[in-house]
Amino acid sequence: MKRIAVLTSGGDSPGMNAAIRAVVRTGISEGMEVIGIRRGYQGLVEGNFILMDTGSVSGIINQGGTILHSARSLEFKTPEGFARAVDNLHQAGIDGLVVIGGNGSQRGNYELHRQADFPVVGVASTIDNDLYGSDYTIGFDTAVNTALESIDRLRDTATSHDRIFIIEVMGRSRGFVALHVGIAGGAEAVLIPELPWTLEEVVDVIQRGYRRGKKSYLIVVAEGAAHGIQLAEQVEAATGYETRATVLGHVQRGGSPSAADRVLASQLGAYAVRFLKSGERGVLVGEQNECIVTTPLEEVWSKDKPLDPEMIELVKVLGA
Ligand code: ATP
Repeated sequence: MKRIAVLTSGGDSPGMNAAIRAVVRTGISEGMEVIGIRRGYQGLVEGNFILMDTGSVSGIINQGGTILHSARSLEFKTPEGFARAVDNLHQAGIDGLVVIGGNGSQRGNYELHRQADFPVVGVASTIDNDLYGSDYTIGFDTAVNTALESIDRLRDTATSHDRIFIIEVMGRSRGFVALHVGIAGGAEAVLIPELPWTLEEVVDVIQRGYRRGKKSYLIVVAEGAAHGIQLAEQVEAATGYETRATVLGHVQRGGSPSAADRVLASQLGAYAVRFLKSGERGVLVGEQNECIVTTPLEEVWSKDKPLDPEMIELVKVLGA
């Protein structure tokens, strides 16, 4: 393998730059040329390629976002766009591709493997942590810590004003971010898409607390479980207590990556190159039980990553 390429796709996540750096520097140290593809699969369709050298990834390990930029490409999903993307890879003499991204990105990666039989590996990177095949994904730890910082601040106000705060966090259709943030932030309740909940249950948690003399509440809601603003209105109407909503939104996507994300990204990026070189293809590189492992891409997009039931129990016990 003489020339490999790397792209970042889908939602940006803190640590993507550290992963790019690891791919570039490992590739070069293994005697390969490394091509950077700008703007994800859209750049692959358009042939938006640049040669990366060691210096091109200097000083980026601490930066959020992605120096290669990301995109959501509808064109890549069309037969014509896909064919152009594959053609561009061959024309540029690229022998292997590393795709750093989340679920949708690894689905696209799987199509390159299945339809074009192109040597690809994926690197698990999304703040949502919803990728089957990796206990943690690049960006999750930073996103949780970013949300936590806001929650700690909101707790000050909730306590000072005897208020209920509903905090909506990201996570798409999954509750990993909400669950971790809820436990770390000491939330009274966490609502996630994986577990059915009712307004009556939320109101009940609040009423029981008030009877014990509790006057402020933090309730963390995953974006896939409820709309924070709507829920706050419903809770206020049902309880008569002052309730405010904060939707954290995209602030959770940016920022300097945590040490954990930088280390994970460096490991996964480096291993992705080594796996490609050793002939492994069509797999996601992830981390399980502190070991770097590979999982077939087909499983990655077709299977749901389970939530740890003990974490769900923990929220209930500790938030009571
Ligand atoms: P995140 O979870 O962090 O938001 P993601 O990787 O899941 O990231 P998506 O927008 O779902 O983000 O997917 C990124 C890109 O992957 C899409 O814009 C598209 O170009 C490509 N992609 C997704 N699904 C497919 C598919 N079925 N076939 C080909 N390409 C796909």
